Amino acid sequence: MKRIGVLTSGGDAPGMNAAVRAVVRKGLYEGLEVYGINYGFAGLVAGDIRKLTRRDVSDKISRGGTFLYSARYPEFRTEEGQMKAIEQLDRFGIEGLVVLGGDGSYRGAYALTKRGYPTIGLPGTIDNDIPGTDFCIGFDTAINTVLDSLDKIRDTATSHVRTFIVEVMGRNAGDIALWAGVAGGAEQIIVPEKDFSIVEVADTIREGRQKGKKHSIIVLAEGVMKGNDFAAELAEIENFHVRVTELGHVQRGGSPTARDRVLASTFGAKAVELLKEGKGGLCVGIVNNQIVANDIIDTLENHTHTPDLSLFELNKQISD
Ligand code: ATP
Repeated sequence: MKRIGVLTSGGDAPGMNAAVRAVVRKGLYEGLEVYGINYGFAGLVAGDIRKLTRRDVSDKISRGGTFLYSARYPEFRTEEGQMKAIEQLDRFGIEGLVVLGGDGSYRGAYALTKRGYPTIGLPGTIDNDIPGTDFCIGFDTAINTVLDSLDKIRDTATSHVRTFIVEVMGRNAGDIALWAGVAGGAEQIIVPEKDFSIVEVADTIREGRQKGKKHSIIVLAEGVMKGNDFAAELAEIENFHVRVTELGHVQRGGSPTARDRVLASTFGAKAVELLKEGKGGLCVGIVNNQIVANDIIDTLENHTHTPDLSLFELNKQISD
């Protein structure tokens, strides 16, 4: 293999640039040429492809987002879309590909592998909801962003007797809520993976106040419901003078943390090694602190992502 490509697809995540940088630098180190594809699979089909030099990835490691841009491109599910991509790969002489993204991007990567182009998937999403890895690129940065906001909210919350509901991202997964909630000392964490009773939530706030707590912070995962709807349900029980903060897209941006940069660099280099060995159809991950590479389809079809729910129990015990 002499020439490989790299693209970012699906939602962007801090650390994607660090991963692309690692693919380029490790590729060059191994004597390969590396091509960058803009706008994910859309750019691949359109031929928006260019050779990347060491210089092209200079000063990118500290930047959030993705300098290769990302795009949704549903047409890539079709045979026609995939065949057009293959024409472009042939035209540029690209023999293997690294795809950064979520499970949709993994399926695109697998489709190319099946058509003869070894492709490796790397998990990039702040939601941390991709099977086959304990941590995804971008998650650590996102929880630190949430934590920074929780600390600020706590400052104002202690000045008033109030209940704060902080709605965080995560799509259908509660990882961001769990990690940021424990780190931020939230009184309650509400996640999709655990049933909750609004009556018990109200009881906990009331008991806290009786114990002398001036405020309470509830971290709510977006996969459960909107913060305003949660506040409305709570208001039907009692007026706790609730304030709702929806953190929104600030969680997707920012300079990646050291941990995300190291994870992204390790994953990027591993992807290049796998391609050099002629392997494809694999997704890289970290499981029990070991870098792993598993079959994409087996990972998507036989494994589901579950957050570390021991954090939920822990928080119940230590938030009193
Ligand atoms: P995230 O969910 O974090 O945004 P994702 O990779 O899951 O990331 P999707 O929009 O699902 O995001 O997928 C990204 C792109 O991957 C799609 O726009 C499409 O180009 C391609 N893709 C998705 N599903 C398939 C599939 N079944 N076959 C081929 N390509 C696919």
